[in-house]
Amino acid sequence: MTFSLDNILRDNIKRLTPYSSARSEFKGDAKIFLDANENSFGSPLDVNYNRYPDPLQLILKEKIAEIKKVKSQNIFLGNGSDEAIDLLFRSFCSVDDNVIICPPTYGMYEVLANINDVKIIEVLLKEDFELNVDAVLAAVNQNTKLIFICSPNNPTGNLIDKNSVKKILENFNGIVVLDEAYIDFAGDASFICELKNYPNLVILQTFSKAWGLAGLRLGMAFADEKIIAIFNKVKMPYNISEVTQSLLIKALEQKTKVDDFIKITIFEREKLIAEISKLKFVEKIYPSKANFILVRVTNANALYDYLVKQGIIVRNRNNVILCEGCLRITIGTEAENQELLEALKKYN
Ligand SMILES: *Cc1c(COP(=O)(O)O)cnc(C)c1O
Repeated sequence: MTFSLDNILRDNIKRLTPYSSARSEFKGDAKIFLDANENSFGSPLDVNYNRYPDPLQLILKEKIAEIKKVKSQNIFLGNGSDEAIDLLFRSFCSVDDNVIICPPTYGMYEVLANINDVKIIEVLLKEDFELNVDAVLAAVNQNTKLIFICSPNNPTGNLIDKNSVKKILENFNGIVVLDEAYIDFAGDASFICELKNYPNLVILQTFSKAWGLAGLRLGMAFADEKIIAIFNKVKMPYNISEVTQSLLIKALEQKTKVDDFIKITIFEREKLIAEISKLKFVEKIYPSKANFILVRVTNANALYDYLVKQGIIVRNRNNVILCEGCLRITIGTEAENQELLEALKKYN
């Protein structure tokens, strides 16, 4: 199998001349900037944000490159991972094309496929929530552009077997999108170290989970620099705000705090699993490598409503295929988990 970016790129994107912003035409230091129609006097705030931000976020990418052990040219930054997913559709999928998703999984792949008017082929995960590799490869046709794999998977929490992912990468001529939103909780399982072996691999990560920065909206995509160059061509010119760029540069200096978040989350997760497994109405707790657990109970809707009345909101996955009877519970602080447990103990 040979992968060729030229074969899967949409024709209009191949032909596209990207917008050339003031800040991309002149880079560097100068005395006076009168090129971008900014307000030269300042902002109505204590801090000035009157200047457009770096369109390619080069300083921030250098810092991320160090932490993630990739080259800066292999990084794309988006307004959440969702921006990278949207760019994948807009760059590679025309109306007659399709993508493969493996339910139960993250809902945004389907929503963005629908928004972009791209067909979806569903290949269910197996009973143990592993990939059905043969069925995925059998479902591929000449219009299949993207295959989405989420690992650790949301809402099931399991890591997908590494060899299954490799088999799909090696036998598919389109792009494999590996969503690693929860990878920080899963030890050293990331595929980032495999990037150089797979020109058709796009890895998604985010600052919304382990890093505790969901409110800033920053997602990352890691891929071959040719793919990153396409994202840079298609994206909105100033997609990451100055506030986000400067706060992220500060946050990256505090990685040890994030390591502590991860440790305590895993500790609390295992404690919660041990306690919840003692409850009579709990039928199964699925093994988790993420900051949430999927729990099958005797009556998910009733338990969900009861918890809402106690002021505790979990995610009801009862209507999701293969997750019937399940609630997805995010790991909270020690005190929050304690309150949850007390509420659960009172339920029968
Ligand atoms: C939470 C989550 C994301 C993160 O999305 P952002 O837009 O970066 O906040 C991505 N993928 C999965 C599977 C998720 O659960």
